[in-house]
Amino acid sequence: MMVLIFEERLMHMQTYPLIGIAGNHRQDNTEEDRYILSYAPNGFVRGLEKAKAIPVIIPISTPEFAKEFISRVDGLLLAGGQDVSPLLYGEEPHLNLARTYPARDAFEIELIKEAYRQHKPIFAVCRGLQILNVALGGTLYQDIESQYDNISVKHTQKTMPSQPTHTIQIASGSELSRVLGTTTPVNSYHHQAVKQLASNFVPVAWSTDGLIEAFESKSEDQSVVAVQWHPELLIEDSNVMQGLFDNFVERVNRSKQNTK
Ligand code: MN
Repeated sequence: MMVLIFEERLMHMQTYPLIGIAGNHRQDNTEEDRYILSYAPNGFVRGLEKAKAIPVIIPISTPEFAKEFISRVDGLLLAGGQDVSPLLYGEEPHLNLARTYPARDAFEIELIKEAYRQHKPIFAVCRGLQILNVALGGTLYQDIESQYDNISVKHTQKTMPSQPTHTIQIASGSELSRVLGTTTPVNSYHHQAVKQLASNFVPVAWSTDGLIEAFESKSEDQSVVAVQWHPELLIEDSNVMQGLFDNFVERVNRSKQNTK
């Protein structure tokens, strides 16, 4: 009897998938804090917990480890952060390029390639959307205010992160529209954006000035939802964006079922 209960608990635990959050480095340059810290924004941890997944942070590491990391997780979450190096898509740095971090770029590109090789679902946010596009052969506007002619929306809001400031239009029939409907307000903290979308992807949401705010995978073999805003900063004040985390965990669970 005891054994049975124990096994039931084990089976229950196994229904919670393990999600790897690609981490970042922080270096405090104060006298006391000259070491590097590995971290991920806690909103991602909260969103995954609430969606009944176990979050783990994948620290920036040697690209050769990507295969091992990905083989141990059920899904990959790509978080926000630094600008993507334009050298990766054949451009020199524009004058308005912000800080880049080549070691993170290199490691995340390998994580993405491995997630594709192993068909592990991906959820990408902000920089995560951008590095995902570049990893699959797309390009970016390095700085939308100086490079995107039709810009008319403020994409670097001054308002607090928990408040949406601009609207997006969502393609009906997309995975995203099932979660958010065909229009929704979002927060916005990006000065880069998709220019040429990689051929693996289909755009599914746009700001009113025409920038791509979300894309998904064209292939049934690879589940991807990528968004340009920050849902992890919107989940404490509203349940709407928690739906993206729930959707990600559903996609991961479905993918696990299919590979059994
Ligand atoms: Mn925006």
